[in-house]
Amino acid sequence: MKILMASSEAVPFAKTGGLADAVSALSLALAKIGHEIKIVLPRYYNINRSELTQLEGEMGVPVGGGEEWSAVYTTELPGSPKKNPVAVYFIDHEQFFGRDGIYGVPWEPDFLDNPRRFTFFCRAVFQVCRKIGWYPDVLHAHDWPAALVPVFLKYGEKQRDFSKTVSALTIHNLGYQGVYNKDNFHYTNLGWDVFYNAGFDDWNMMNFLKAGLNAADKLNTVSPNYARETQTSIHGFRLDGVLRYRSADYLGILNGIDTNVWNPQKDKFIPKTYGIKDMSGKADAKAALQETFGLPPNPDVPVVGMITRLTEQKGVGEVFGPAYGSAWSICRDMNLQVVLLGSGEPWCENEIKSLSYRLSNFKAHIGYSEKESHLIEAGSDFFLMPSRYEPCGLNQMYSLAYGTLPIVRNTGGLADTVQNFNEETGAGTGFMFDDLTPSAIYNTVGWAVWAYYNRRSQIEAMRITGMKHSFSWEKSAKKYIEMYEAACAVR
Ligand code: ADP
Repeated sequence: MKILMASSEAVPFAKTGGLADAVSALSLALAKIGHEIKIVLPRYYNINRSELTQLEGEMGVPVGGGEEWSAVYTTELPGSPKKNPVAVYFIDHEQFFGRDGIYGVPWEPDFLDNPRRFTFFCRAVFQVCRKIGWYPDVLHAHDWPAALVPVFLKYGEKQRDFSKTVSALTIHNLGYQGVYNKDNFHYTNLGWDVFYNAGFDDWNMMNFLKAGLNAADKLNTVSPNYARETQTSIHGFRLDGVLRYRSADYLGILNGIDTNVWNPQKDKFIPKTYGIKDMSGKADAKAALQETFGLPPNPDVPVVGMITRLTEQKGVGEVFGPAYGSAWSICRDMNLQVVLLGSGEPWCENEIKSLSYRLSNFKAHIGYSEKESHLIEAGSDFFLMPSRYEPCGLNQMYSLAYGTLPIVRNTGGLADTVQNFNEETGAGTGFMFDDLTPSAIYNTVGWAVWAYYNRRSQIEAMRITGMKHSFSWEKSAKKYIEMYEAACAVR
């Protein structure tokens, strides 16, 4: 199959979250199976033109009643199979993408012209295909920035030279929908009838994702449980009605993890690699973790790790909220150590710094560090992830691969990947709670620490069960193929 991925992010070129990992990993997995994959991305400021090949001639993109001109660059996606490389095409438009920041910068988190930037990007995807004379079977759009791709296909391009192409749209995070003043709508070059027929209308605003969800032939999100949850008013972010309406075409496909990077048997960032047969490297990682974070070296005390963006979605309010968060009482009452790596909202960073001064068994590094994230996954006994909502979540899958038991809220992809500890049978791979409250977090961490001291053999058995589980992209890629085939069948 010929598949084009339209995305605003893909590693190693542009990343703010899990979307970037998923797009590249899925593309590589599909190419390995033998499909022809191309990715279209904006050429952002930090993507060096001199490392890319420029296609001959400029390209006109019809937007805003006229035409915007852009150059197109290309390169191969690193890690591509030699015989069937994934080609990445970059749309180069200086005014839209020549600046620092993908969606914004700290002093302007959502660029004012984002509706125009991503309308232009989505229209340019079709022009790239025309330019290279390559018409895909499937246009696969990711999240709101690419959500107009299925809309443009349905309302215009399909009646032109894309008659044999179908579309799919993946939701990586329903919390971000691209909702803007409808004054921006004229920029799409679509008629006002389409504004209403395609379902752009969102209380008199223009909602990119909503229109995409209505227009795409097939929809999916990144875990089966999140697919169910997003069809309820609690997790639907006001689009649950649209998703219920489209439920026959909407499914959940779990993300995989990159097992070359996240694998205790070949991890370059930990002192000694380890696996199911010899777990001694995990103890070494724990010692290195305690040293790196300045905690007392003690192999017998349980370490709880956290790696997270410090935002409301991740449940950090219930852990670190001043006066009501559970972190203080967890660290005061229990004989454990807690390490955190993360960055995000200033109030939370400040609270974490203050806690690490006041508590001898809580240490945190504010910032982003790949090396330390590997050390935490390997060296911790437990990994805490109390997300408010979690489309898939990667860290709990990394934890399972490293024999670190996740302590997670029973939501989204966390519920699909972690099995709750059963005290009677010893079955399970982690510890779960339902309510997002400080006391539920406190009690579940307490339960895990209790089990660490009193049910050691069950804890060790759970580690092995988790490590045996595979979260490979090959499995997920096959499910995406089924989705593409179902879309093509309707064609
Ligand atoms: P989300 O995409 O919602 O942030 P995920 O769990 O799906 O959550 O993926 C987050 C990814 O970012 C993981 O690979 C995680 O290890 C990484 N990450 C988050 N914060 C940091 C940090 N401060 N340092 C290193 N890696 C981080």
